Amino acid sequence: MPRPRKKRTVEYIPAEMTYKPVGRRLADLPQVWLSYDELEALRLADLEGLYQAEGAARMGISRSTFQRTLSDARRKVARALVEGTALVIGRAETPVQRWRCGVCDHAWAVLHGSGEAATPACPRCGHAVDEV
Ligand SMILES: [Zn+2]
Repeated sequence: MPRPRKKRTVEYIPAEMTYKPVGRRLADLPQVWLSYDELEALRLADLEGLYQAEGAARMGISRSTFQRTLSDARRKVARALVEGTALVIGRAETPVQRWRCGVCDHAWAVLHGSGEAATPACPRCGHAVDEV
């Protein structure tokens, strides 16, 4: 049984997406599933260029969890590119709770897990917010 997952914050939640090699049928391909928190770790580290401690703080998780999540994400993307598997993002994800800041209008989501319920604060400006 998988270890229960803690709550984590993600600021970018795309609709479910699948990438695959051109000219191959999805049904014929092995699939690699990338979760929203893995995508978020990739985004923060490799697109925004954050250090792991900063990325961990943005997602509300420990640095070691961030490092493991990022490492898993990079391995999955590498496998999809090198081996030509389908890369599926966000399918069968844990429930998502979406939030929007009333002060700065920033939007983000909390992926539910085993963590304590808490009123989240805006990752951008720190304002405590209401659920949308
Ligand atoms: Zn805000």
